[in-house]
Amino acid sequence: MEDSKGHRADGPARNAESVSIRWACTLCGYHVDGEAPVACPECGAAREEFEVVPIPAG
Ligand SMILES: [Zn+2]
Repeated sequence: MEDSKGHRADGPARNAESVSIRWACTLCGYHVDGEAPVACPECGAAREEFEVVPIPAG
């Protein structure tokens, strides 16, 4: 079931290393790039309350 001249995923190869992530507090909306803080400086939520959100391109 292999098609040697089939589809080829074209697109950006892969942005390897300097991939940034953004963390957003699900309680108050505070967000920070890089690493999730130990606790939200705005509302004091624990790190578990943070979720990764996509960073808008540009
Ligand atoms: Zn918060």
